[in-house]
Amino acid sequence: MTDQVQDQVQQLHNYVGGRWVPSNGGRSEPVYNPATGEEIARVPLSTLDDLNRAVSSAAEAFPSWSGTPVPRRARIMFKFQQLLTEHWEELARMITLENGKSYQEAYGEVLRGIECVEFAAGAPTLLMGSNLPDIASGLESAMYRYPIGVVGGITPFNFPMMVPSWMFPLAIVCGNTFVLKPSERTPLLANRLAELLQEAGLPDGVFNIVHGAHDVVNGLLEHKDVKAISFVGSQPVAEYVYKTAAAHGKRVQALGGAKNHSIVMPDADLKLAVKEITSAAFGSAGERCMACSVVVAVGDIADELVSGLAEAAKNLPVGDGMEPDAFLGPVIRDAHKNRTIGYIEKGVQEGAQLVLDGRDHALANAEGYFLGPTIFDHAAPGMNIWTDEIFAPVLQVVRVNSLQEAVAIANKSEFANGACIYTDSAKAIREFRESIDAGMLGVNVGVPAPMAFFPFSGYKKSFYGDLHANGKDGVEFYTRKKMVVARY
Ligand code: NAD
Repeated sequence: MTDQVQDQVQQLHNYVGGRWVPSNGGRSEPVYNPATGEEIARVPLSTLDDLNRAVSSAAEAFPSWSGTPVPRRARIMFKFQQLLTEHWEELARMITLENGKSYQEAYGEVLRGIECVEFAAGAPTLLMGSNLPDIASGLESAMYRYPIGVVGGITPFNFPMMVPSWMFPLAIVCGNTFVLKPSERTPLLANRLAELLQEAGLPDGVFNIVHGAHDVVNGLLEHKDVKAISFVGSQPVAEYVYKTAAAHGKRVQALGGAKNHSIVMPDADLKLAVKEITSAAFGSAGERCMACSVVVAVGDIADELVSGLAEAAKNLPVGDGMEPDAFLGPVIRDAHKNRTIGYIEKGVQEGAQLVLDGRDHALANAEGYFLGPTIFDHAAPGMNIWTDEIFAPVLQVVRVNSLQEAVAIANKSEFANGACIYTDSAKAIREFRESIDAGMLGVNVGVPAPMAFFPFSGYKKSFYGDLHANGKDGVEFYTRKKMVVARY
């Protein structure tokens, strides 16, 4: 999958038609280990020509693959699942190396990917149609499912295994062929997945990878042979992808950014809330679309909650994710670290109270892109630190007096991915569930990410499209239906 260049840095290649193919454009950019700042590989910035070759290869593979019996497609998923399990630790190490998250988190991410493959292996059941033997006298009707063709997948840096796994296993087991454009910041894992898919027996051309940036994305969005686009990434790009791909006649599901609120009620088990929120806010360095970024403290528990959160966060082990006890790794790039520092400065200027300052951490001046956890108290809607997705280990606390006020604040956000409540009151839980505007809810759970057999996504600026990722939504997205009305 790579060539070693003279300085021992791997040069990554594209995966097209079952072969590793150098980009024909000659341009590439460095991939860094965020924990050390060291260059670990070079990723090609592929051209439109590279992309067109991959789409042609996927289009050529489509007739044979879509005609392959569903149980045979599913069997390849079973084999792939077995290989992923055998290579679990290697894959987790690779995620930590290129993304920076702790090995434990990376290990968990591999599991989330495996679960997607397990769901996809149920294709014979998932792809069944339906029928009614007597819609009228002597007349019957049936629905059959078919693949749609070449599907494009565009993925972010923060889950190099899990997010592509929301897409390609289900897309290909449904009989489609696939072109993946991984994040140029975390491109290594995708290449390993291609090798394992090949080992699992996936025919050449069914799964392809074209590395690069917006040129490749634009190529996918506009290509006449690409029938559907699955995108996960930041809000402005999600909106752009949705509009552009739709204008080119494609199905689109585009999952965007988030600003997830966690409401802590006066009756909450504060010990549990502190533990869950700390992990949800600072795990994966806050670089999770389901990260908790705002705590809404209801009533007079606020002081105790804030001091509990500060104490827990202060004690989190920060370090290279490869170290066995590291919890909080680096953020993805130096520029992202500087942008985060900019938000901390803004928060102070806006009048929020800085309870814990991640810039003070001993590792904040290290070679890697480290920041300690940051907590702001007395944040408020309208402040930039409340409005924008910071996507880093920065947590805001807003204080209110009632659940209604808390929900109103959460619902003011332009994002609506996830939201959580901490309480033992069934009445409060019900009111929260009925009135909160978010797609994925947690009750005394910090990261309520649905498992692969349920749909995953939010609303508002967190999602553009109709059918969410994964679950039966995913099957609907990657198939089209034929209705037959028959008289014999
Ligand atoms: P990003 O938007 O920068 O990149 C995502 C993909 O889009 C990458 O493959 C990138 O190459 C491509 N891209 C970036 N800019 C582009 C442009 N101008 N034109 C065309 N393509 C472009 O996102 P990121 O920083 O890699 O990932 C973090 C973001 O992803 C966060 O906002 C996070 O909330 C979001 N995310 C959302 C979910 C979800 O389920 N809603 C899941 C994971 C991540």
